[in-house]
Amino acid sequence: MGVGMPKKSSPRKANSKTKKARAKSLTLAKKAAAKKVAEAKKKALAAKKVAAKKAAAKKVAEAKKKALAAKKVAEAKKKALAAKKAAAAKKAAERKAEADRKAEIKRALFEEKERLRLEALAQAEEERRAKEEAAAALAALGTRCELSGFYVKPSPSELTSATVGQLREKLVKAKEELERKANEFLAEAEALAREREGGDTQFDEESGDGDTINTERERDLLLSASTQAVVEQIDQALERIKKGTYGACTPAGRAIPLERLEAIPWADVCVDCKSRADRRR
Ligand SMILES: [Zn+2]
Repeated sequence: MGVGMPKKSSPRKANSKTKKARAKSLTLAKKAAAKKVAEAKKKALAAKKVAAKKAAAKKVAEAKKKALAAKKVAEAKKKALAAKKAAAAKKAAERKAEADRKAEIKRALFEEKERLRLEALAQAEEERRAKEEAAAALAALGTRCELSGFYVKPSPSELTSATVGQLREKLVKAKEELERKANEFLAEAEALAREREGGDTQFDEESGDGDTINTERERDLLLSASTQAVVEQIDQALERIKKGTYGACTPAGRAIPLERLEAIPWADVCVDCKSRADRRR
């Protein structure tokens, strides 16, 4: 309202005013109602959205839960597998350690055996060398010939078994011959003895026949004895053939040359030793 007099409103105007007011109020109410509806819709929409969000969140949460559970199961499986693997590895390691231990024992045993074998071998070698050295020293020194007193170097006999066989035959033949001769000399000596005994009455002591017979008898006895001595030497030579020492000079082991054995198959000393022995006589 302005300055001046207040205008009085007409009833029509008032009526219309009321109608307008009413309409306005209605409109307002309608608007309010619409607003309410809109708000309600909005609220409902919001609520729906919230519910949808909640549901989605729930789903997500459930999915997460499921995923977590699955993860846990997978982890547990993984752990179990790892534990299984670890157990298997441990067993394998134990088996390997046992095998290694056994192998080590075996190796140690083998080494000990090998060590003993080598030790025995070394000892045998040392013994062999000592023997060889002693033999070499002895060979260098030679063998003392009891006939001459000198040291001589022993040498191996070079007679073949065939040669020894031939010499043996010679020895056997010579023995037969010499035994026969020795017996002949003996028989002759005995005959002379009988002759002398029987002739004591026939022959005169002065004629000297008794002495001659006696001398002859003694000569026969000597020849028989020396022949018998050779027979004994032949027996010894045959014995040496049996023993395998035939052909070596008895005092010092030097080989007797075949030429000498052919001449005297029963020789048991070489010419060298024999001449030394002869010189000493
Ligand atoms: Zn000799």
